Amino acid sequence: MELIFREDAYAKSCEATVLSADTAGIRLDRTVFYPEGGGQIGDHGRLLLADGSAVEIVDTKKGESHDDVVHIPAEGSTLPAVGAVLTAEIDWERRHRLMRLHSCMHLLCAVVEGDVTGGQISDGKARLDFNLPDTSLDKQHIQDELNRLIAEDHPTRTRWITAEEMAANPELVRTMSVKPPMTGGRVRLLDIEGTDLQPCGGTHIARTGEIGRIRVGKIENKGRQNRRINIHFADT
Ligand SMILES: [Zn+2]
Repeated sequence: MELIFREDAYAKSCEATVLSADTAGIRLDRTVFYPEGGGQIGDHGRLLLADGSAVEIVDTKKGESHDDVVHIPAEGSTLPAVGAVLTAEIDWERRHRLMRLHSCMHLLCAVVEGDVTGGQISDGKARLDFNLPDTSLDKQHIQDELNRLIAEDHPTRTRWITAEEMAANPELVRTMSVKPPMTGGRVRLLDIEGTDLQPCGGTHIARTGEIGRIRVGKIENKGRQNRRINIHFADT
């Protein structure tokens, strides 16, 4: 399966051929749908068929291998025939909000010290858990630093390194709970120029300015060494 979102996070739709379809999910030969993973929830959207009908996709999950993407149809959907050619189209407004918050989580890694032990990027809110004994995290300072990095409009780009290079640079890994995304012996890195560099298989915006102003929500103590930082858009 060709994963178009991996090379182009801005691709909103693509032509594709149905490989298999049952109530558990639909598989295509190529897709723009991001499957839930690395803390980012799966895309919603629709599959538009040649006869003018559409299958609503209510979630996207990873299948059995790293490049297997399962499109989950709404209950009661009429499934497309194997071999049918269709247009796969994501709910772009929702995905763009996910890309903005996901990219903001990289900036949060640049602002807050400590290993990341978990995280979740949902529609309109995101959080990261840090392994930190310090209970005196300054919410206003974190918010100001994030909005500064956003306003500086740093470009982001994807780079690939070999598994050997990855193994030789363990300090690149900030997230202890997620294994670096490997594809054919290569690891994908997200580089926010001069700010953050780490392995990531998610979808990101092209420049940090596109995130827009954010606000830091609650900072919660989740266990003795676990600080959870919640992030929202400033206008919500
Ligand atoms: Zn990322």
